[in-house]
Amino acid sequence: MPTGKMSSTGAVWKGIIDKYRDLLPVTEKTPVITLNEGNTPFIRSRNLKKKIGLDIELYFKFDGANPTGSFKDRGMTLALSKAMEEGAKAVICASTGNTSASAAAYAARAGIRAIVLIPEGKIALGKLAQALVHGAHVLQVEGNFDEALSIVKALVRKYSITLVNSINPYRLEGQKSAAFEICDQLGCAPGYHALPVGNAGNITACWKGYKTYRDNKRTSSLPVMLGFQAAGAAPIVLGRPVEKPETVATAIRIGNPASWKGAVAARDESGGRIDAVTDDEILNAYKLIASAEGIFCEPASAASLAGVIKLYKENYFRPGTAVVCTLTGNGLKDPDTVFKVSEEPLKVKADVSAVEKAIEGVI
Ligand SMILES: *Cc1c(COP(=O)(O)O)cnc(C)c1O
Repeated sequence: MPTGKMSSTGAVWKGIIDKYRDLLPVTEKTPVITLNEGNTPFIRSRNLKKKIGLDIELYFKFDGANPTGSFKDRGMTLALSKAMEEGAKAVICASTGNTSASAAAYAARAGIRAIVLIPEGKIALGKLAQALVHGAHVLQVEGNFDEALSIVKALVRKYSITLVNSINPYRLEGQKSAAFEICDQLGCAPGYHALPVGNAGNITACWKGYKTYRDNKRTSSLPVMLGFQAAGAAPIVLGRPVEKPETVATAIRIGNPASWKGAVAARDESGGRIDAVTDDEILNAYKLIASAEGIFCEPASAASLAGVIKLYKENYFRPGTAVVCTLTGNGLKDPDTVFKVSEEPLKVKADVSAVEKAIEGVI
């Protein structure tokens, strides 16, 4: 008899906690705060081989298709669910933008307050708009991300608010789901997995995710982990903190990563690399992904492809092995960058012949 209810075993996607519950630190008592994050597109590269001669089996994991437009939602669903289980009344974070957008949305979903500290002036407008519209208490700190994070750490020692930066262990637990999904979507673990590295939580989490899947016999191998920092914000590559990090890729403009050790472990245990790419290489990859593949990611996300292009030129990749690039965030958050790398649209008179003239050579 039809009940009008969806079966819980049906094809309806209910977020990463529902899907990967057996591998995550939740119980039946955990209230699940979700926006049905995860299950993001896994897209095979179609045109980069012809366009730039990149002759590898390349895939994009487009995590910009998450509910708030970045992979941060994978960790935030678990961080907010556990915070609610523990009776939190508010959450707090420092953010280059996407963490605050995600924290604000999931706090709204949970019905509690989010306080977010944002470094002054260096955040994409779309991300700030998200934090505001979701009702977070937003403070612009006159300083950089690293300074904002130390303030947040001092506050959570003093008050009972839950910190939801990636030093919150549940964030990384949830972010492991990106690795699970890549294995599920590819049918096995990839040969290489490239990611942009900022605070280094994502590369740390994905590496743990691959190991979890292998230990649970869902895959039989592990990928080589490749992390890419922006040249002006490359503390792990340099081996020391960068006091004044600078890059067009604001989401990875971080001088002293919280998960530094995790990233180094991912690199060393997997036999991988953490390398730097210049802002020019990042912007070039950003334009390529959008114009040759139809995927609009944010500048920081493109550091993964920029790094893969760089290593390809060094003959780094074993032929015939799947290479996955995580595209961490959605380009719509930061349209300003587009206008720095594109030509202004032509102005034409409103008549057919003027437009005909203007499209000569295009058709
Ligand atoms: C947070 C973020 C990063 C950096 O991820 P980490 O886990 O801090 O290394 C990269 N790209 C985007 C779009 C982000 O939001």
